[in-house]
Amino acid sequence: MASERIMLSRVHLSGTEQKYIDEAFADDWVVPLGPHVDRFEHRLENYLDAPAVVALSAGTAAIHLGLVLLGVSRGDEVICQSMTFAASCNPIVYQGASPVFVDSEPETMNMDPDMLERAIVERYRITGRYPKAIIPVDLYGMPARLKEIIEIADSYGIPVLEDAAEALGSKFDGQMCGTFGAFGALSFNGNKIITTSGGGALVCHDQSTAGRVKFYATQAREDRPYYYHETIGYNYRLSNISAAIGCGQMDVLEQRINRRREIRDLYDALLTDCSEVTVQSNPDSRFQSNFWLTTIAIDNRSGKSPEMLRQYLAEDNIESRRLWRPMHMQPVFADAPYYGGNVSERLFDQGLCLPSGSSLRDSDIIRVAERIKEFFRQ
Ligand SMILES: *Cc1c(COP(=O)(O)O)cnc(C)c1O
Repeated sequence: MASERIMLSRVHLSGTEQKYIDEAFADDWVVPLGPHVDRFEHRLENYLDAPAVVALSAGTAAIHLGLVLLGVSRGDEVICQSMTFAASCNPIVYQGASPVFVDSEPETMNMDPDMLERAIVERYRITGRYPKAIIPVDLYGMPARLKEIIEIADSYGIPVLEDAAEALGSKFDGQMCGTFGAFGALSFNGNKIITTSGGGALVCHDQSTAGRVKFYATQAREDRPYYYHETIGYNYRLSNISAAIGCGQMDVLEQRINRRREIRDLYDALLTDCSEVTVQSNPDSRFQSNFWLTTIAIDNRSGKSPEMLRQYLAEDNIESRRLWRPMHMQPVFADAPYYGGNVSERLFDQGLCLPSGSSLRDSDIIRVAERIKEFFRQ
């Protein structure tokens, strides 16, 4: 008999979503915008201790509008962490600008501040201009070295757009991820820590900027009794029904984060005697990852690869996933400048994401850990 399927990160409903959706239906708010969008935004603002949050149709839309508001346009360069999901950097290209990729450092797997500075200096030397923005990512929930990155960015007067799509509830130095740069992007896609079925948000530092974001997200309609446009807009607002789901998810956010952290700790404890495997941990007490996904690194002296392990787990109906393949290794970005060594390449070659969904039981985690140990014994 086949074993029960264990998935990487399944949607985990709270049970209160339906209540909020019913409210929305009762009041005929089955439209884009509506009271649940406002409620969802306020709850995010309170949770993050942020002045303004705008709910959008996707995390990708949030990154795109962040770049629009930062004035990124044709001919500009934008620095982005290479090791990430393509959604971090595709919006650079939507704006007609060019990405410049920077390597990671091994502990957080995020942007290496030294390489960032090297990239800024080199780009200035080559192009005579500074990059227009910097996009660090809090990968798998682990905060980037945000203080150092912001300090370097500030010293050159370059704004930071923090891609915190995977890091809702993570903190660096006591401050919530998503609130560090000029803008922060969040995602509520189906596999993220909470979901609106699909959606995202842009964290802003003041209400007037948030107003501009809403303007661009609703087709850039000027305030007139007829449709009048002075600039190009987008259709990026979150629907009221999706926001209602988000309200239900906010009810349990803290529990979801706690469970993801518990799952990481459980893997760590179960795999301590497995010398080939290292479970990612917070580098020091300033870092408080939400551990959206638990990642492991496999010692390459074991002669075994993450791909072999992924297949071995799949044979037992366990879903795992390779780490993000760095953007400078992607054919579509082959011509983009890259600053760094082979850290992100090595992380990609050695890492694997384990099933980490908050609905998983301890017995599921034990089954995965046992299977991993069996793999290294065979
Ligand atoms: C999920 C994700 C995004 C994009 O979010 P969507 O809501 O799927 O558009 C961006 N960056 C990272 C790092 C992500 O994981």
